[in-house]
Amino acid sequence: MTSLLLADVRPWGGDAVDVTIIDGLISDLSPAGNSTDSSTETEQRIDGRGLLALPGFVNAHAHVDKSWWGQPWVSYGGQPTTQGRIAHERAERDKYGIPSVDGAKAVLREFLRHGTTATRTHVDVDLGVELRGIANVLEAAAALGGAIDVEIVAFPQDGVLRRPGVLDLLDKAAAEGATSIGGLDPATIDRDPVGQLDALFEIAARRGVGIDLHLHDHGDLGAFQYELIAERTVQAGLQGKVNVSHGFALGELAPARQSEMVDQLGEAGISWTTVAPATSAPLPFREMRAAGVPIGLGTDGIRDLWSPYGDGDLLQIARGFARLHGLRTDEDLTYAVELATTYGASFVHRENHGLTVGARADIVLLDAENAPDVLVRAPRREYVIAGGQVVVRDGELQV
Ligand SMILES: [Zn+2]
Repeated sequence: MTSLLLADVRPWGGDAVDVTIIDGLISDLSPAGNSTDSSTETEQRIDGRGLLALPGFVNAHAHVDKSWWGQPWVSYGGQPTTQGRIAHERAERDKYGIPSVDGAKAVLREFLRHGTTATRTHVDVDLGVELRGIANVLEAAAALGGAIDVEIVAFPQDGVLRRPGVLDLLDKAAAEGATSIGGLDPATIDRDPVGQLDALFEIAARRGVGIDLHLHDHGDLGAFQYELIAERTVQAGLQGKVNVSHGFALGELAPARQSEMVDQLGEAGISWTTVAPATSAPLPFREMRAAGVPIGLGTDGIRDLWSPYGDGDLLQIARGFARLHGLRTDEDLTYAVELATTYGASFVHRENHGLTVGARADIVLLDAENAPDVLVRAPRREYVIAGGQVVVRDGELQV
């Protein structure tokens, strides 16, 4: 048995408590100074000094396999279209050793540094790397001792139908433990939306995995693909297992069409992940909440051959979400933090994620007054506990 007492911390900025952690799980929360397990019985004690405590962040959309983090600066040199970026990455990635175990580990360490203790990551599966990227990511996660939970989406970044052999790779990935298979702009990349979606849904239904699609298409073309996805989700009985990533078109639709679409997504049990880019149309997030469409936040790729941006801090994304949607009240600012933490749980299939007894001990301590203060300042993570393991101490990464 391993034990840790986290003394004098304030969950979500509330009253101070002592948190007892046993074998990686939260076993007790008591008013500060009154914990049932005395500090003499715990192996380790951390003085929380009244710091604010949040549950570990959940990055619902990442690409930990494709970053050049830790290497000298790489100037962007591709064409500014989706196909241009795909081609640029395929031409250049070998030069930077992408993918690799060390590369994935570097990204996962940055996630931990910023308090992310679970992530859903898309990992490129194509005719060049086949399933090597997935093996790299799993090896990197294991090397970090399970501190960060990693869920894999086998992602056909280079297209599906236009690259014969990719479907077989996705099928193999699904058989070998990927929790979802990905897809990419069925209309503009494969130029066959029905064909790509039918093929993905066939694999997902047969293997019992989820689907998580990158959809960049705008306007009516984007909306048309949401309809195709919703129809197939219901037909295949995959409600609760299908996610749309980005989905820029949803925020662009006229109000009546948008309302119909949100209802259709809710009825089909489809979830949504966003990285809240400043140039995108705001999502109808209140209507999505009301319709039961879960929303997750992600960093997307950081420092990769697609974009130089990103440092792995999900709070920066939550703040971007809040600014994009014009959030100002304490309630709304707190909601943006919840998107980065509690509401991310379903994206990594966690039923109990939070500062509650029985949850995995994923806890982030920050020097902040309350959740809105956390959001607008995104202060340093003073401590990060991941599965009971202290991975950040006094702001310094320990892994
Ligand atoms: Zn992505």
